[in-house]
Amino acid sequence: MKAVVIGGGIAGLLAARVLGETYDDVVVLERDKLSDQPECRAGVPQGRHVHGLLVRGGEIMEGLFPGLYDELVQAGAHLMDAGEMRILNPLGWVASTTTGLPLLVVSRPLLETHIRRRVTAKIVDDTHVTGLSFDGSTVDGVLTRNGRVDADLVVDASGRSSKLPAWLAAAGIEVPEPSEVDSRTGYATRIYTAPEEFPVVVAESLASPDTSRGGIVMRIEGERLMVTAQGAGGDHPPRDPEGFQGFLDSLRGPIAELLADAEPVTPVYLFARTASRRYAFEQVQKWPAGLVAVGDTVCVFNPVYGQGMTVAALEALLFRQHHDFSAKGCQEFQRKVAKTAQGPWALSSNADQGWLDSTHEPGPVMRAFGWYMKKWQVSLVHDQDMFRRFVRVVHLVDSPAALLNPVVFRRLAKYSRQDPRRARRRAARNPR
Ligand SMILES: Cc1cc2nc3c(=O)[nH]c(=O)nc-3n(C[C@H](O)[C@H](O)[C@H](O)COP(=O)(O)OP(=O)(O)OC[C@H]3O[C@@H](n4cnc5c(N)ncnc54)[C@H](O)[C@@H]3O)c2cc1C
Repeated sequence: MKAVVIGGGIAGLLAARVLGETYDDVVVLERDKLSDQPECRAGVPQGRHVHGLLVRGGEIMEGLFPGLYDELVQAGAHLMDAGEMRILNPLGWVASTTTGLPLLVVSRPLLETHIRRRVTAKIVDDTHVTGLSFDGSTVDGVLTRNGRVDADLVVDASGRSSKLPAWLAAAGIEVPEPSEVDSRTGYATRIYTAPEEFPVVVAESLASPDTSRGGIVMRIEGERLMVTAQGAGGDHPPRDPEGFQGFLDSLRGPIAELLADAEPVTPVYLFARTASRRYAFEQVQKWPAGLVAVGDTVCVFNPVYGQGMTVAALEALLFRQHHDFSAKGCQEFQRKVAKTAQGPWALSSNADQGWLDSTHEPGPVMRAFGWYMKKWQVSLVHDQDMFRRFVRVVHLVDSPAALLNPVVFRRLAKYSRQDPRRARRRAARNPR
């Protein structure tokens, strides 16, 4: 039995790893020419920007490739407690604390290169897939620029630029328009030398509708700092070095000050196609046998929430329990993929409603969500236990239901009686 995976990004590599447990032959087709070294490449332009690996995603990857954390740390990645990141939210510094959750801080090219080295599937690079090959209503392979590759199962993991809806349409299979929530966030990233004492991660978070600017500085391999500026609601950081520096200077926290002794070593790179987008492939009538889709092909998240790689990892695990790839079985698989992405989608797309333009008047549920999140922001500044609970949910270790219980409600009620402006002033005086 042979499985062909389109795309050698994180979703494709992890899917290939798990498919290798049941398929005799697993082939990954990647359009880029690949190097054995951690380098940015054209097919993954987002690799130039900060990639936070959530705790749950890291756990899954370490489970699939035992020893991966150690290998990456030896190659220059950092391991820290997820609760010890220094984060400035709109009301002040969050109440950092130990959580016992290990957080791997690593650049995207380094992570991907090490996963690729560990995957035993055959990886064929420089191979652009141009379409699907059909035998009646079954997908029996893919078409490439050089010919055709046959398969018992085709997995589309070609990411946000996937042509799957068009390929299906060409076969007379209609795909509903995707849902989209666009926070109009722009990224700009530059790499600097790292002053010795610089923390592993310093972040200043955005929050709709008032705090449109933020950033993250992350220590990466080679004693470097990856500095990503983020601007939502169309307030994008610029590419020119002076404009980029001006954007960092305009942040509320100390990122610019901390970087005073750091030297830039690259130009500034931009990325602005950050809308969250989700295809309901599970609702497609006449979905063919022998074809499934995972990762960004199905659901792209606003990257500020750092969910994409972890959702891809959760979806890869679905191949362990699911072995029926008849037309019905494939639809069932897509339902499981949709269910996997549902919680993270709700978290990020709800939080982004505040960035939508004025034609999108928020309904009562959205207004309640916004109010609830404001109470959380206050509690995160004051209460280490609340911060610990929040970290577990944001890192997809616990489900969002863990934030809906009487203890949490009582604490939120207590903090909601506090004046946020006073909290902000006090917390700003007291960075942790
Ligand atoms: C700016 C930015 C920052 C991000 N930050 C984070 C973060 O902090 N944390 C996080 O978890 N996620 C982050 N993400 C999302 C993350 O990059 C993806 O969700 C994750 O990598 C899973 O993507 P994927 O493997 O589905 O697609 P990709 O990583 O995009 O890989 C798709 C692969 O398919 C190949 N390909 C495409 N078309 C073809 C074809 N026709 N034939 C052959 N090969 C093809 C591409 O070359 C590429 O290698 C960020 C995204 C962006 C844009």
